[in-house]
Amino acid sequence: MLIPLALLFNLVGLPGFQVPKNQSKPPAVSQKGNRNGKVFVVMYHHIKDGKNLMFRSATKFRADLNRMYKMGFRPVTVTDYVNNKMRVPSGKTPVVITFDDAHDDQFHILKDGSIDPKSAVGIWRAFAEEHPDFPVVGTWYVLPNLWGQEKLQRKKIEMLQGWGSEIGNHTVHHGDLRKMSDGTVMNEIAQMNLKLRKLGVPANMPFCPPYGSFPKNKALMKSFTYKGQTISHSSACQAGWCPAYSPNDKKNFTKYSLLRLHGNGRMYGIDWWLNEVAAGRCKVYKAP
Ligand SMILES: [Zn+2]
Repeated sequence: MLIPLALLFNLVGLPGFQVPKNQSKPPAVSQKGNRNGKVFVVMYHHIKDGKNLMFRSATKFRADLNRMYKMGFRPVTVTDYVNNKMRVPSGKTPVVITFDDAHDDQFHILKDGSIDPKSAVGIWRAFAEEHPDFPVVGTWYVLPNLWGQEKLQRKKIEMLQGWGSEIGNHTVHHGDLRKMSDGTVMNEIAQMNLKLRKLGVPANMPFCPPYGSFPKNKALMKSFTYKGQTISHSSACQAGWCPAYSPNDKKNFTKYSLLRLHGNGRMYGIDWWLNEVAAGRCKVYKAP
């Protein structure tokens, strides 16, 4: 590759700089940014030991945070991503960390009132204390169980929101929306939306259909009227296997079909895709 003339003049203009002999490639210009690069929307379910693809051990989850951090990723929410407002420092790469199903191992509070250090929130909070620029900012697609400690539901939502996270709707019964009538789909979506609003979640929250299975009438994921109330969602995501399109990629980006990738060690999971980034085969979004 030839060195672009402008770059060459810039470089040779620096005091004491000489273009090294035998160098045919320009130096990497990492500070340039890449606003069209791919965005990782990582999907976690259980954070504990387990065999199937829905599990990520606490140790592996901690290692994911560490590896992403070292590779320059910084957390944002789904809403930041779909609104193209991913405020990460120049040269850094946004990552959207999402959790589905509101399992107890994601957010558990111990009898003494402290956060279980083995739960996802406990692990992430500890990591964020050492790395304040990687706070607990993510999107939590919840079911009515809301992490399993009934009296602490509102408190947990407030804590997550206080750190910069957001809550999304994952329906009431976690059924396959594609197989339901429009009326049942509306019940599933609206009742959870209204429950979350009562718990302090903003009305126009993000939505995640169970199994990434869209209803036959896809418009229901966006908005409809239910018993006189407007039910609306700002985005909808899929389950997934690959990084998502940049919100600047007008041709491919769509708010109501966001791609995600699994937070696990299998093919097309987070390890696999981070290896692709490290090898230069997957170009990720980088803030200018
Ligand atoms: Zn789910």
